[in-house]
Amino acid sequence: MLIGYDVEARAAADVTPRFLEQARVLHNRLGVPATLFIVGQTLEQWVSEFQAIAVDPLFDLQQHTYSHQLLKTVHIDDGKSIRVVRGVSLQETRHEVRKASQLLRKHLDVESIGLTGPWCYYRGLRDRPDILEVLWEEGIRFTRTDGRNEHDWHPVSMDLQPYWYQALGFPEMLEIPIHGWHDCVIRAEVLGWEDLEGYVESVKPYIDRAANEARSSRCASMTGAASVRIPRCAPRKRSSATRKARACAF
Ligand SMILES: [Zn+2]
Repeated sequence: MLIGYDVEARAAADVTPRFLEQARVLHNRLGVPATLFIVGQTLEQWVSEFQAIAVDPLFDLQQHTYSHQLLKTVHIDDGKSIRVVRGVSLQETRHEVRKASQLLRKHLDVESIGLTGPWCYYRGLRDRPDILEVLWEEGIRFTRTDGRNEHDWHPVSMDLQPYWYQALGFPEMLEIPIHGWHDCVIRAEVLGWEDLEGYVESVKPYIDRAANEARSSRCASMTGAASVRIPRCAPRKRSSATRKARACAF
C-alpha cells in the first residue's frame, strides 16, 4: 500500500505548513511511511517547510506537476450532470513535469521519479502512450494517475491493483491506482467538511481490506508463492524511503 498525499494548496492561507507539521507528527507516532506528491507552485511558496520534512526518512517526496494542469481530459458523470475538463498539450505536460522536477532538485535535492496526475483519470494512462512517453523521457518511473471509475467519478474499487504499462511499451513504468474516493471530493461534495466521522467511516473498509490482504500476501510470500519486482529507477538521494513506499504498494 502506498499512502500518498497530494500537497497542492496555493492560497495564501497556512494550510500547507499546518498539514506538513501534523502529517509528520502522525506518521512518526505510527512509524508509517508516506509519499508527498507536491505541486511546484506550492513548493515555491513554502520552501523551508518542505525542506524540514525532506530530511524525515519516513517521507518520500515526489511531484504533482508544476501548476496542477490535467494531463488528460476527464468526462465526469456524477449521476447528476456531465462535466468535461480538458487536458493540456504534450508540450505543456513536458513543461509542467520538468519544472516541478527542477524545483524538487533545486530546493530539496530530490530526483523526482514519481508523479500523481492532477485530477486522475479513468484507466490511468493506459490509453495514452504519448503522455507516458513524455513522462518517461522526463525521468518518471511510477505514476498515480488511475483514480477514477468508468464514469470518471468515484469510488474506485480495490479490485484494481497496481500494474505495469508493459503493453504500451513501458515495462518498467509502474501505475499505483488511487482507491475509493478522493478525500476532497467526498468531503466537499458528498458528506460536507464538518462530517469528519462520516469520512473516517468511508475510508475504513479500504484500510481493513488492505490490511487483510497485506497479511495474506505476507503469508504467500513466506511460502515463495508471491514475487515482487521493484522498478529500476534513477539514483536519488533518499532511495530507501522510496523503496519502502513502493514495496508496500503490492
Ligand atoms: Zn491534485
